[in-house]
Amino acid sequence: MTFSKPLKGSWKLKLPINYEKSDWRKRKQAREQYCKEQGWLCYHCGESLFDDPSKEVMKKVINVKLFPPSMFDHPIHLHHNHRTGMTIGAVHAKCNAVLWQYYGK
Ligand SMILES: [Zn+2]
Repeated sequence: MTFSKPLKGSWKLKLPINYEKSDWRKRKQAREQYCKEQGWLCYHCGESLFDDPSKEVMKKVINVKLFPPSMFDHPIHLHHNHRTGMTIGAVHAKCNAVLWQYYGK
């Protein structure tokens, strides 16, 4: 792992990071890095992060009561392991909700 010049936005994080122990700036940086590394494809469903998730994901019904109201404010989420706190990859907001509601991830 080498650090590039410490110019704004040019430095890189060593992934994964501990999501629980990171502030929003670090989470944002990590999310952006994952997006680039994944070629802007969702880690979960494989569809473009600029488009809707896969049909299979879209078919699933989300119980919005399980999530905080701000859950769907951002279209791209940083998925993390709820047991270890470590980040996994960038996913659609809906994919993140499906992973939690259906798979407990
Ligand atoms: Zn997705």
